[in-house]
Amino acid sequence: MPLLSIVVPCYNEQETLPFFFPAVSRVAEQLRTQVDFEWIFVNDGSKDDTLRVLKDLHAQDARVHYLSFSRNFGKEAAMLAGLTKARGDFVAVMDADLQDPPQMLVEMYQSITSEPIDCVATRRVSRKGEPPIRSFFARRFYALINRLSKTQIVDGARDFRLMTRRMVDAILQVKEYNRFSKGIFSWVGFQTKWLTYENVQRVAGETKWSFWKLLLYSFDGIVAFSTAPLALASIIGFLFCLIAFVMICIIIAKTLIWGDPVAGYPSLVCIIFFIGGIQLFCIGILGQYLSKTYLETKKRPLYIIAEEDETD
Ligand code: UDP
Ligand code: MG
Repeated sequence: MPLLSIVVPCYNEQETLPFFFPAVSRVAEQLRTQVDFEWIFVNDGSKDDTLRVLKDLHAQDARVHYLSFSRNFGKEAAMLAGLTKARGDFVAVMDADLQDPPQMLVEMYQSITSEPIDCVATRRVSRKGEPPIRSFFARRFYALINRLSKTQIVDGARDFRLMTRRMVDAILQVKEYNRFSKGIFSWVGFQTKWLTYENVQRVAGETKWSFWKLLLYSFDGIVAFSTAPLALASIIGFLFCLIAFVMICIIIAKTLIWGDPVAGYPSLVCIIFFIGGIQLFCIGILGQYLSKTYLETKKRPLYIIAEEDETD
């Protein structure tokens, strides 16, 4: 029988795991005749008792595997570690908070085994229950990154997806340090089918993403999947040279025709500030890319595993 691995990144999820595991087990029970399940829980340096909960689950059910990071490395690293450890012919990524309806796994599994596709992904059609300001910026982000980058990133796409082994292997080949999974999933290609669902609230605990964390994450996404901001600096520079040239011509002409009354000191200061600001902005963009290159060249591991269960 084929094996289906469920990869679950967990950061301070002690309250949600007791709901999550039985819910997915029920789905595993429904698919019992078609596929075997295994769970790969990644404890991403939780500060609560998540690890103990995971060990209990492992003791109860041999299909449950866990690994635990030495500190919080972020969801991206946790997903990568889980995908690396997963041995399934099919691999699903799910959040621990039941915001990804487990029941959908049935439909996803039927699709991936009966259609010529390598991935069934999900997206939310609504953002109900989310602060409006967050929804607004999220929409702007997707519009922007899809203009700037050749890699298409679907608005509302979740990390909840089911993939075939060959797609997972392709993802594991992408070794970059600054990981933006939504982009990587799309970049590796393969046929993807999209399922939609309404936003679901977390069963317990609270979200780990503050507005600022999301904003910084969105910058990472843009820098990782587009070099357009680099070109922006050159374009602005060129435009300003053009404007300056035209202004010089006008001033020369004016001086020749009407003489030269000394005026315009305040406007001069404004222009100096303005140009200075643009220059700093452009240097800042360069800095962003340079810092990413710097981290990339260090070739640090993406995560450190402190302990994991013994698997053969
Ligand atoms: N998560 C993680 N490491 C982090 C932050 C989050 O492994 O540093 C996990 C978290 O435990 C959950 C999933 O990523 O399983 C999604 O997190 P959350 O529900 O907080 O995000 P949201 O659904 O609000 O986008
Ligand atoms: Mg969530």
